[in-house]
Amino acid sequence: MATIFSHIAVMTFPFSSHPSALLNLVRRLAASAPTVRFSFLSTAKSNQAIFSGQQYDNIKPYDISDGLPEGYVFTGNVHETVEAFMKDTPGNFKEGMREAEAEAGVKVSCFLTDAFLAFGGEMADAMGVPWIAFWIGGPCSLSIHIHTDPIRSTVGDTGMAQNAEQTLKFIPGMSKIQIRDLPEGIIDHLEMPIAHALHIMGLKLPGATAVVLNSYEEIDLTIITDLKTKLKKVLSVGPSTLTSSSPSKPDESGCLPWLDKHKAASVAYISFGTILVPPPSELAALAEAIEASGVPYLWSLPDHSRHHLPQGFVERTSTRGMIVSWAPQLQVLAHTSVGIHITHSGWNSVLESISYAVPMICRPFFADNMLNCRMVEDVWEIGVRVEDGILTKSGTMKAIEHLLSNDKGKKLKENIRLLQESAVKAVGSNDPGRQF
Ligand code: UDP
Repeated sequence: MATIFSHIAVMTFPFSSHPSALLNLVRRLAASAPTVRFSFLSTAKSNQAIFSGQQYDNIKPYDISDGLPEGYVFTGNVHETVEAFMKDTPGNFKEGMREAEAEAGVKVSCFLTDAFLAFGGEMADAMGVPWIAFWIGGPCSLSIHIHTDPIRSTVGDTGMAQNAEQTLKFIPGMSKIQIRDLPEGIIDHLEMPIAHALHIMGLKLPGATAVVLNSYEEIDLTIITDLKTKLKKVLSVGPSTLTSSSPSKPDESGCLPWLDKHKAASVAYISFGTILVPPPSELAALAEAIEASGVPYLWSLPDHSRHHLPQGFVERTSTRGMIVSWAPQLQVLAHTSVGIHITHSGWNSVLESISYAVPMICRPFFADNMLNCRMVEDVWEIGVRVEDGILTKSGTMKAIEHLLSNDKGKKLKENIRLLQESAVKAVGSNDPGRQF
């Protein structure tokens, strides 16, 4: 290992896709800066999941407290674990940092944090070192957090219901976004612990040395131009999908060879991200739609949810369907057989779909999902939202027909190909898309 000349403390928000997105960025940085030590501070559970035994010369994971009582058993309520973790900050990070400094023998000279952890800025200030914040969502959702106070003062305290269809045309690049698309915690659900942290984040980010985005400028030029007037430095380094060198987890289920057997662009890939599972009634409706439409499918569905599928569904569709508990999503979307992505429209999933030009059917659930879905359907026109925003048999069948139709589906495909081209250009990759 090379001599360490400087030391960066990396602080993660250890939930959903946040830690792996940050590790992706750190891996790229670490490869090009071998004399810099990256101390990756996260909870034991998260470190275990994302490092899965893999070692790097200059990235060292440190486990910090998750704030949960000993013997805690997960109740299924993610907010509970987020709240416990946030209550333990920043003490848990400070402790982890002290351990990392002692072991490396070099003081921390920079903080790279998930943007959610705005107290990282205060820690950096106290030590007189730079704070780099990483925003794992899209420019649109970042803009919402930067403009939270103007949004609140425009909408007043009359709430979401009265203003649902009002657009945010007073924010550059947001004329298609409606009040009902806002994440929780902007004008409603203010009691959520994360709502306060995100409000503070929006106020503190203008003080960060730089804000790194997993996005690229061409996708939202007006929004990013506006962000540049509010933040000291905006660095668009995405889509990370097109820059990461190895897939996160191997294809344990064998779904890639299974995809080889299908016609080009014929398979619907279904996934709702790392923490979300649609309610049982919607899972059943989605299965019924898939069965009735006759479309081949690959479904990433946790084992504990399979009993919600209609009786006999798996057997009846076994010749054209595969259900896995985890899919190597990048390779799946990059596979030529996949033609539809049914998604909750989490930012990573949207960006991955764009990277491999797979049009989307969106069923947004929470956080930035509704914003991303609006961008997909009304701004970029690269997918559709399911009718009334929930998965019903007829609404999902209509969406599938839309994507497979010659005229409307073709237009979506053309639009997403253009976005894919600009993404590939932005990261300077020579390989236009399907790269696995
Ligand atoms: N993912 C995956 N396999 C799966 C399900 C999800 O690789 O079976 C990955 C996906 O590629 C994406 C991430 O999990 O990178 C989900 O991130 P996103 O921002 O879309 O949603 P979140 O999990 O944060 O709600």
